[in-house]
Amino acid sequence: MASAPLWLEHPSSLRHDTGAHPERAARMLAIERELSARGWLGFERLTSPAVARATLEAVHTARYINGIEEVSVGGGGHLDLDTVVSEDSFEAALHAAGGAVQMVDLLLDRATPYAFSAHRPPGHHALRSRAMGFCLFNSVAVAAQHALDARGLERVMILDWDVHHGNGTNDIFHDSDRVLFVSIHQSPLYPGTGPAGDVGSGLGQGFTVNLPVAPGSGDSVFCSLVDRVAVPLAQSFAPQLVLISAGYDAHRDDPLGECAVSEAGFARMARSMRWVGETLEAPVGCVLEGGYSLDGLASSVAATLAALGEPVAEPDLDGDASPLVLAARERLAHWWPELSLR
Ligand SMILES: [Zn+2]
Repeated sequence: MASAPLWLEHPSSLRHDTGAHPERAARMLAIERELSARGWLGFERLTSPAVARATLEAVHTARYINGIEEVSVGGGGHLDLDTVVSEDSFEAALHAAGGAVQMVDLLLDRATPYAFSAHRPPGHHALRSRAMGFCLFNSVAVAAQHALDARGLERVMILDWDVHHGNGTNDIFHDSDRVLFVSIHQSPLYPGTGPAGDVGSGLGQGFTVNLPVAPGSGDSVFCSLVDRVAVPLAQSFAPQLVLISAGYDAHRDDPLGECAVSEAGFARMARSMRWVGETLEAPVGCVLEGGYSLDGLASSVAATLAALGEPVAEPDLDGDASPLVLAARERLAHWWPELSLR
């Protein structure tokens, strides 16, 4: 019954008007142009609904949501130095979260084995009651929480490969042992959070996994952290759903990040997570985050979609472990003994 992979989108993404800003509507148009030239790589396009208010309130406070709505209805404004709200931003953010939630429902209904929810604004910096870093509502967090609350899941994994630390997602699930949050991000870089020593709190200790990498890191660093750390973690945690905070600002051409990931690198990371999904019988869904080189973004999203559809192949689970991989596994073995290489 599993049919075509699904692509979730909504026209309001184009109306979230940030002015002269790297996070701009041209990003969506560049992706659309690339995918359209490639027949959408077999993905079926769906229009995303707005998120239900109660679903959004499971992550964000009512007061915060009302505040975003008021600024938006009032014509917009700056929430901080780089986070802009326009008249149509509230609607766009509702559909960005709604698309991620809809994607989770379709994945869990087994309507599709993998899917991509592509909207603006991005979400992973948004905290429960604060907008940050171009983000209003934390779509991936809202979708993960929905999977727990409405669909009765017990274990959701979120891999965040955006070049920036997903501080919002990190904090929202900080004390949860039901969401395994794994972030690979450049350090130092905005927002300055996500040191390796931030491992979660309370019951959630060990379920927040921060993997900071140096500026200049490319495919081998990102892919080895996925294959040798994120994949073994997934094998131990056994998620029932895998979500990817898919940002593309670790691309070598990105103007905001200083990393050097190529299209092939994003493809390899996607392929590894699809293998995880296949072997654990967990569906895999991507939620678009950043990515500010229009060409790099468009070609990398296309590479991700193509990779998700390729025959599933085992990742490089036993390759040489870099010092970064060794250090991460040694640290994590405290909670995940299977990761010990000794
Ligand atoms: Zn980013």
